[in-house]
Amino acid sequence: LLGGRRRDRLPVAWTLASGDTAKDIAEAEHMLEARRHNVFKLKIGAKALATDIKHVAEIKKAVGDRAAVRVDVNMAWSETQAAWAIPALADAGCELVEQPVASAAALARLMRRFPVALMADEILQGPESAFEIAKHHGADVFAIKIEQSGGLFAAQRVAAI
Ligand SMILES: [Mg+2]
Repeated sequence: LLGGRRRDRLPVAWTLASGDTAKDIAEAEHMLEARRHNVFKLKIGAKALATDIKHVAEIKKAVGDRAAVRVDVNMAWSETQAAWAIPALADAGCELVEQPVASAAALARLMRRFPVALMADEILQGPESAFEIAKHHGADVFAIKIEQSGGLFAAQRVAAI
């Protein structure tokens, strides 16, 4: 039960991680045809910014309105790089950027500059950090992980925050 309503299905994002644009598009097409997933998460940050943005833009162009595209940068960018890349990703149709930078303060500053949704992952280390981030409106979305939160009860508290 979620929010008092019984659910028999939940949308689950599928990670496209080959890094090869054509391969990732083929995999996305397969998932769409099989009606398994229509939210795709791309792991980026290891390549040059322009290369990563082109990769995301081509995948989003291929799936169009049939699917949502998100990225996880795993803290790979500096704040300056993120400030350049985030609007470019938004222009490409990317709906969410996960942990673009390592610092919570930098993420909060990026929040104030760009309307695209920013997700906190690595900086979220249990209820205390969740409260600090929420207090400063330092992220739009939390990636809640049980172990990273400090266990089931702590993860539940993070979810409540
Ligand atoms: Mg992540």
